[in-house]
Amino acid sequence: MNIGIVGGGQLGQMLAHAGLKLGHSFKFLVPQGECCVEAFGEVIRGDFTDTKLLREFARGVDVFTFEWENVPQATLEALSGFAPMRPSPACAKVAKDRIQEKKFFQAAGLNVQKFAAVSCEADLASALEHVGLPAMLKTRGQGYDGKGQRRITDSARALEAFEQLANVPCILESFVAFDFEISLIAVRGYHIGATASGATIKSATSNAPSAATIYFYPPCLNQHVNGILHKTSVPAEGVLPELLEHTQAAVAKMMETLDYEGILCVEFFVRNTPTGQQLIANEMAPRVHNSGHWSIEGAVTSQFTNHILAVTRQPLGSTATHAKAVMINLVGTIPLSLEAPENINAHLLVKESIGAATVARTVVVDTHEQNQNVTAHIYGKSPRPGRKLGHITAVGENAPRLAESVLNG
Ligand code: AMP
Repeated sequence: MNIGIVGGGQLGQMLAHAGLKLGHSFKFLVPQGECCVEAFGEVIRGDFTDTKLLREFARGVDVFTFEWENVPQATLEALSGFAPMRPSPACAKVAKDRIQEKKFFQAAGLNVQKFAAVSCEADLASALEHVGLPAMLKTRGQGYDGKGQRRITDSARALEAFEQLANVPCILESFVAFDFEISLIAVRGYHIGATASGATIKSATSNAPSAATIYFYPPCLNQHVNGILHKTSVPAEGVLPELLEHTQAAVAKMMETLDYEGILCVEFFVRNTPTGQQLIANEMAPRVHNSGHWSIEGAVTSQFTNHILAVTRQPLGSTATHAKAVMINLVGTIPLSLEAPENINAHLLVKESIGAATVARTVVVDTHEQNQNVTAHIYGKSPRPGRKLGHITAVGENAPRLAESVLNG
């Protein structure tokens, strides 16, 4: 299939890397400026509201998906008039507004922290009264990697925070004194073909298959630095099994409600209280997610492969893990130890030829420890403070120690 991806960052790169191996081809819609998908398919550059450009992008595309949801809703809706978009534009819409998102979580049976809408200065006092202090003021839309948010500890400074966020519509939510943060990553997909029992599940009356499958990856433990994901460790330990089961059922319900196709990530704060453990849903990403990068080496089927399988309506792959995994983001700079891999025991620059693309992006670091490995993914983006330039994943019983040792040379 020819797959059209809206966006051209590292998520698009890794989706295409997985999809080329499955025999698909790719077309990308990206804004003007640098992108990191040129080697992976045809790149259409320009203004996402330009209908002529959208038509050009849509030409020859069998199915669309997106690696970035914060694009104009009208763009996603216009594209879905040319070919199916999976997940649908409605799934992106929920995640674009933090108030709608919280209400959606609640409707599915998930806990959320106290929150109130702040549309103008006059809303601040009542919102502060409802939510209490400390609180977080966040823009309702366009926030990512901790951008567009201010912590408020003193109500006298709330207006200043609102002004710093340019007086755009905001949400005020209580600051959660969490013990740790996790994400749940799930994939839902239909496939036209045989069920486990061998029966065909294709509906007799339409092209839509009649049954969907949902698989969950193990919970991911996430540590952030300055609002940006720093490290993910899998499996996250310390989540009560019955609470995890209840939460997964709620996420599955959300996916059913949205008739979701593809990877969905939901992030949670975990609080251990004297009366038990609480999982508080913070936000969702209707796409592949940074906290799932470990799955490339750490799971039987990566989040990227499963997303492609779901959007092309092929049977999903197993989300089981091989061993413990630790992923660390390379933000702002690439550590010297990776720029000069001769400092490490052994190295290998992998050049892969897949379809038309030759991909030289993966440095595999062989640490000579049995059944342990570390892989560095360098996305090929120019360095800038706070920019995600790559990540490393260590797999094996000693993954945490191994990851640190590779980074520190
Ligand atoms: P977000 O953009 O909502 O994912 O926020 C980025 C990170 O900031 C989260 O992963 C948390 O570490 C922190 N954070 C955001 N909102 C809150 C909150 N209400 N209480 C405590 N920490 C928060």
